[in-house]
Amino acid sequence: MATMADFRYDKATWCPGCGDFSVLAALQQVCVKIGLEPEDVCCVSGIGCSGKISQHFGSYGFHSLHGRSLPTAQGIKMANQDLTVIAAGGDGDGYGIGVGHFIHACRRNVDITYIVMDNHIYGLTTGQSSPTSKKGFKTKTSPKGVAEEPIKPLELAIVSGASFVAQAFSGDLKQLQRLIEEGIRHKGFSLINVFSPCVTFNRVNTYEWFKENIVNFDEQEGYDPTNKAQALAKIAETESVCTGILYREDRPAFHEVVLGATEQGTVKVPLEIPNDEMQSLI
Ligand code: SF4
Ligand code: MG
Repeated sequence: MATMADFRYDKATWCPGCGDFSVLAALQQVCVKIGLEPEDVCCVSGIGCSGKISQHFGSYGFHSLHGRSLPTAQGIKMANQDLTVIAAGGDGDGYGIGVGHFIHACRRNVDITYIVMDNHIYGLTTGQSSPTSKKGFKTKTSPKGVAEEPIKPLELAIVSGASFVAQAFSGDLKQLQRLIEEGIRHKGFSLINVFSPCVTFNRVNTYEWFKENIVNFDEQEGYDPTNKAQALAKIAETESVCTGILYREDRPAFHEVVLGATEQGTVKVPLEIPNDEMQSLI
């Protein structure tokens, strides 16, 4: 049985206090808790500070291109459905250059878990406004304040067809672990957007700011995450500063639709293509 040490690879190089440490720790703890071995998991990341997670996490890994963690992760899952596939990245990577892939991953419903470390800024490139920066936020690239409305990843995921949408906070490790576990157990595409403060370049959306502003839907009586209209209304009410499982829906995952399912489980994609078939493909 694997331990936390088995899921460690190298020493994380994030700034002390960066929210991404909690995401890495939560992912390691969940993998141990649900009995996965490092060879059962593949972590695919994009580019940015958060993208380093695939090299700090001890499993199969793929540090992909900017904004391209999702197509890579979906391809890996379709080729080997026995793997637990985690895609990970930041708000700039996933909701900027990668937003087209994000929308299609939501509607496609491949059985992977997508963890976005959302700090509302580009951290690796030293502090420019990102797609989730709030309007008016001053950075090097927006000295008079961001002029655009921010991307709303939760609403975008829900209206694009995501079957599991949750939001967590690096300052609440217990809830973060639970949501990652639920996301991995969910059959289909799961988004876990994590408020993961950049302590070096974002002096507005700090741990304290999130603690003061977050509305935890786990504590809201009568909240039903299977009610899409209610989910959209409640998320809008909190201006997306909420945590918990916000929306979930049971529907067949992409491989079940495309490949069919048997009583023994899903039909597997053949990993080896016969030579004559391969020749005809070339
Ligand atoms: Fe984390 Fe920000 Fe440092 Fe990057 S620059 S490691 S996001 S604290
Ligand atoms: Mg970012």
